[in-house]
Amino acid sequence: MKKYLPILIVFLSVSLSAQNLRSGGKLKPEQAIMDIRHYTVALTVDPEKQTINGYTEITLVLSEASPILLFDLWHGLTVEQVLVNGKKETFNHAQNDLLTITGAKVFAVAKRLTVKVVYGGTPGVAVRPPWTGGFQWSKDGQGNPWIAVTCQSEGAKIYFPCKDHPSDEPNEGADMIITVPRGLSVAGPGLLKDVKNSKTTSTWHWKTNYTVSNYCIVFNVGKYTNVTRTYTSVLGNKIPMEFYVLEEHADKAPHHLEVLERTCQVLEKYFGEYPWAKEKIGIVETPHLGMEHQSMNAYGNQFKYTKVGGEDFDWLLTHEFGHEWWANKVTNKDWGHMWIQEGICSFGDRLYVRELAGEEAYLKSMQQTARGTQNVKPIVQGEEVDSDDAYHGDIYGKGAFFMHTLRFVLGDSIFFPTLKKLATDKRYTYDSFVTTDDVEELFSTASGKNLEALFDFYLRTTNKLEFTIKQTEDEKYKITLTNFDEALPVQLSVDGVLSKQLISKEGVIVTGKTWPILDPNVYYLKKVVLE
Ligand SMILES: [Zn+2]
Repeated sequence: MKKYLPILIVFLSVSLSAQNLRSGGKLKPEQAIMDIRHYTVALTVDPEKQTINGYTEITLVLSEASPILLFDLWHGLTVEQVLVNGKKETFNHAQNDLLTITGAKVFAVAKRLTVKVVYGGTPGVAVRPPWTGGFQWSKDGQGNPWIAVTCQSEGAKIYFPCKDHPSDEPNEGADMIITVPRGLSVAGPGLLKDVKNSKTTSTWHWKTNYTVSNYCIVFNVGKYTNVTRTYTSVLGNKIPMEFYVLEEHADKAPHHLEVLERTCQVLEKYFGEYPWAKEKIGIVETPHLGMEHQSMNAYGNQFKYTKVGGEDFDWLLTHEFGHEWWANKVTNKDWGHMWIQEGICSFGDRLYVRELAGEEAYLKSMQQTARGTQNVKPIVQGEEVDSDDAYHGDIYGKGAFFMHTLRFVLGDSIFFPTLKKLATDKRYTYDSFVTTDDVEELFSTASGKNLEALFDFYLRTTNKLEFTIKQTEDEKYKITLTNFDEALPVQLSVDGVLSKQLISKEGVIVTGKTWPILDPNVYYLKKVVLE
């Protein structure tokens, strides 16, 4: 998602808001036996009444027979009817944002079930999108409806029934069939199958065949123009680039796609081909800052560029687009491991700086990142953590910095190919999900070093490495790593000469006319005590 900004949250008393919803956490036993295969979300959106009405169809397979089917759906919406494989079933939607369907007969194991939920109403309003999600009923500069949906923190249950847990994505993809007043456009994931017009409405059918996180099964509505370009991927595939931009900003779109193309080229270099090459590279202009919606990235940074390496750079565009690899292709199994999505994506932002502006500029940006780490909560707080508990600033910066440390410890010839493997090997991508242990094992195996202690220290504690430098005699200094049990390679600057030495609890003696400077380029989060 979204760059973390430590803004004071003002809780407005908006009765329609669906704040306090959390996604993921402990997987419910009734849902642990479900494998979601496909979602179809078919809704008519009324911008005037601010309502949605229609149905969602969920196709799934059970690994055990069950008398009930349990889905998540925000209580503020009204369910009218539930059909399972075409047959009406009884349901209860009275409590805890859960929809319980009780079968006339037990639902059989291994049978493909299609559950159609007919529902509608007034969806929850996003109080502070994208951080607090829901529907955003906005207007563009010309007064046209401009509607966005965000739900990373809340889960898609905020507007359609689903199994709201990051560990299960619909393996066969999703269809979105969204009807809006004629004249407005709908931007969605995957490919546009067709647009059917009536006198007063247009129905837009988007379809992705890729597996997709439920919070990326969203749409945006606006008075859009689709500005296109063709991208040639690192593997030579031609991929359509599509930008659903407000008509009033259409003149900015061609240059913006050039900026995006450069970002994509850098990210492909480090992380492999753009993940949704068979469909499209998509962005859509939104009234909120942005979100990593798969193959239709939400963009709301208002074309604000800075310069990196002399070229226009849009930090929001690059960050959200990086999530096509880190979040959408490589997905954390539960939110407890969200640093993999945010931290490695943020590291990718720094690699863009490295590529365009050079190693020195990259080092500077990592030094700035080091200064910004909070170390109040560990990055990994355990397993089955929900979206709210997992989310804090250090999953971005400290997560990115940990990748920087790992790069230094392993060296580029091991680090970069291994990082690319994490983004390309089928064990970690698409239908697979990852945890911190998966990442640790991958890097440990690739390097032949057991990195468990380093991973645990950085990710599961708030400690910083502590080094002491003690003058033992004239021009002799003993350098010791005091609170970590293994030796780590450390850069030392002694009388202006750089060297790399292994430092452990035993310590090393260096000779110099002046006090040595430890880790001058800042590859570690650390305290240095001079004695
Ligand atoms: Zn992000």
